[in-house]
Amino acid sequence: MLKVKDKEFELYLSERQLRERIQVLGGKLSEDYKSKDPVVLGVLNGAFMFLSDLMKEIDAPLQMAFIKIASYEATRSTGQVKEVIGLSMGIGDRHVIIVEDIVDTGRSMDYLIKKLKEHSPSSISVVSLLLKPEALESDVVVDYVGFEIPNKFVVGYGLDYDGYGRNLKEIYQLK
Ligand code: 5GP
Ligand code: MG
Ligand code: MG
Repeated sequence: MLKVKDKEFELYLSERQLRERIQVLGGKLSEDYKSKDPVVLGVLNGAFMFLSDLMKEIDAPLQMAFIKIASYEATRSTGQVKEVIGLSMGIGDRHVIIVEDIVDTGRSMDYLIKKLKEHSPSSISVVSLLLKPEALESDVVVDYVGFEIPNKFVVGYGLDYDGYGRNLKEIYQLK
């Protein structure tokens, strides 16, 4: 049991489970992108820890940039997606890999993909550490999924509860 701010959470994915799965994802991406010179777009804030560990497992030349979108308040989605911030690198005719922490309703990812398509990339693929299939409300395709999880709020390993818990090494689920 772990308390984050005013709520109780329990361990859901250990450091080891995360590490082992990320090695597998990194291996697949290395294989799929070895001669594609991709641009990896890490979605801040939530993906920072996953992104950092995943990048170390990719053995292929790539460039990286960080972008930011926001649609979430505390433990429920507001459905209000804001702007994409920080897309300074040209992605026209490039293979883009979006790295997210979690796809919940899929609205943020839907919006992001639409925005990125305006820049005419050669391809876009989505990597998400977590996916909540039961919560999905859009037809967004997540090409590389770390873990499919139940429709319960999670925190840790970059994911926050009201700003807290991002520094946790493991992922915890709301009790
Ligand atoms: P979506 O637009 O797919 O509903 O939600 C996207 C964003 O909401 C995610 O990138 C993440 O920041 C936040 N989010 C969705 N589910 C969770 C969750 O279980 N825990 C945390 N901490 N954030 C979540
Ligand atoms: Mg996110
Ligand atoms: Mg958040």
